[in-house]
Amino acid sequence: MLSDTPKTAVVTGAARGIGLATARQFLDQGWRVVMIDRDAPALEAVAAPLANADPVVCDVSQPDQVARMAAHVTATCTSVDALVNNAGVADFGPLAETDFARWRVVMETNLDGVFLMSQALREPLCAARGSIVNVASISGLRASTLRVAYGTSKAAVRHLTLQQAAELGEYGVRANCVCPGPVATKLAMAVHSPEIIAAYHDAIPLNRYGTEDEIANVITFLCSDKASYVTGQIIAVDGGFEATGIGLP
Ligand code: NAD
Repeated sequence: MLSDTPKTAVVTGAARGIGLATARQFLDQGWRVVMIDRDAPALEAVAAPLANADPVVCDVSQPDQVARMAAHVTATCTSVDALVNNAGVADFGPLAETDFARWRVVMETNLDGVFLMSQALREPLCAARGSIVNVASISGLRASTLRVAYGTSKAAVRHLTLQQAAELGEYGVRANCVCPGPVATKLAMAVHSPEIIAAYHDAIPLNRYGTEDEIANVITFLCSDKASYVTGQIIAVDGGFEATGIGLP
């Protein structure tokens, strides 16, 4: 049941995958959701039937687009109670094969996007004593020979979360980082070969990939009042993979 003044969550990468599952969970819990994605047709198609969803086309790596998004959000939302920095791109490649242009593409969305979005919405988040959840990856916890750009971008997001928790705590803003294990989304399936899929199944104690909702469950919990004393945490949601010490496939 919706309250008169629902809380507002801003979710990036909301047109599909983990971001869409997160947006749907917030909506089910009575929140209003600003759904951000750069894929306009996909975003408009998924958001159209969702009451209380506000789709905003924005590339989070582009400062001018993020500034326009922030102006729209502050003009149309009573408060910004949660920011979920989920938009990301995957890239599998070692140092030897990753040219600078490819490195920049990964950093621009995965790292610059988190910085730009958090800075642009810092004031309304502070005013609402809101919460930030950054979506990193187990690839940001463990090095591998295949993920020089992706893994480094996600490790940096992990540290950016600690910076946010340290800096914004005095305003009552909490910042946490969720590190998913493998989930069979478009992003993962573009880079996971059958061999990688089989190796993950063997290496993960629960012997399977996670689902979008299993990641969204933790994201929405961290944004809820039930997590009111949780900040600066890096939480692997990975079926136990991180506990094993086994290397990334
Ligand atoms: P996905 O590809 O299904 O969805 C990502 C969404 O982000 C897409 O709708 C895409 O259009 C959007 N997006 C990408 N770059 C953007 C940009 N610059 N601006 C705005 N929107 C942009 O991916 P997913 O698997 O749901 O991944 C979500 C997050 O989870 C990513 O940060 C990813 O790195 C992380 N993650 C995923 C997995 C996995 O196995 N799927 C594992 C660990 C971490």
